Amino acid sequence: MRSRSPTLAAGSSNALPKAPTVAPKARGAADMDKKFRNSVVDAVQQGGLSDWKAGEGAASIRVEPDNVPAWEHSKLDGESQRTSTRLASFVLGTNPELHKKGTELQAVASSQHGRIVASMNNQAANAKLATRYPDTTALKNDLGKYIATQLKTPPAQGSSAQHNENDQLRRAQELYSWLDKNPGAKFTVTENEEARHAEVSVRLTIDAQYPDMRSEGRAAGSKPPCTGCVLWFNERGELSEYRDDQGRVPAGPLFMTPKSGMRTQFEAAKVKPDKANRLSNQDIDKVARTVQTQVSKVATQIHPVSSGNIHNIPRSPTDDDPTTPDYERAFEFGNKLPD
Ligand SMILES: [Zn+2]
Repeated sequence: MRSRSPTLAAGSSNALPKAPTVAPKARGAADMDKKFRNSVVDAVQQGGLSDWKAGEGAASIRVEPDNVPAWEHSKLDGESQRTSTRLASFVLGTNPELHKKGTELQAVASSQHGRIVASMNNQAANAKLATRYPDTTALKNDLGKYIATQLKTPPAQGSSAQHNENDQLRRAQELYSWLDKNPGAKFTVTENEEARHAEVSVRLTIDAQYPDMRSEGRAAGSKPPCTGCVLWFNERGELSEYRDDQGRVPAGPLFMTPKSGMRTQFEAAKVKPDKANRLSNQDIDKVARTVQTQVSKVATQIHPVSSGNIHNIPRSPTDDDPTTPDYERAFEFGNKLPD
């Protein structure tokens, strides 16, 4: 065990700060925040994830074990998941302001049902996406321009190693190809006023509006599911959709944010999601008990992986064929720019 840091000791109940510079009300709020955090971390550990802990610093909202490996896309990804990952790569990769804010994109893409259902984790971003791409033709036109721009300088000869190494270009080409093979596919962006995590919003929209698309399995995109979402899918008996080729479920941290990362746990506990410092002791206990029960019910091995603002563009190719078509052939995908 690491020894307590001076900061932690100063904040503990038997070593209150000497100078009364903190108003009692504010200190009460901070204590409540601490109670919430400690209760959630304890619940995760008692539920069975015994080596998970709160991230460094009082402001950390993460619960996860130390030294988690990078997330890699599963080799079990099917056409829907690969297409969705390509979509996340294109939308987030060409909109750096979304990337910086930690926005993620998840989707289900169905050839059989001629539709992509996509969501980001906030409604403002979703509304912009829906306006920009009212249909897949608008998306395809954007992709074509992007591809043509990337390919504007032809390689000296043969296929280009530079292009072969350009994951984002390769994914854009594959997505363009998918749209080519699925003319008339609809593009649905979910309504996500409650800022649910994207994979949850996609699943709820499919349940309500396109239940036949359930056969495509899980949503995929820019991140592995966080642990709050993993628990939600497990409660619904759907966690097996998230198993990777080694039978594990890759999971990001549990984010201790009542209105976002833990929204579904608050709902299951029948507690209105609110800032930790506004919760009653009773509400905190209800949520913690729910977390502990939900964690203890996970029968599939959780594979903790990294997930964070600066890494939320897909980091591994989705097993796309790493040979980019040569320059001439590549132009079949895009509109050539004027010289
Ligand atoms: Zn989540």
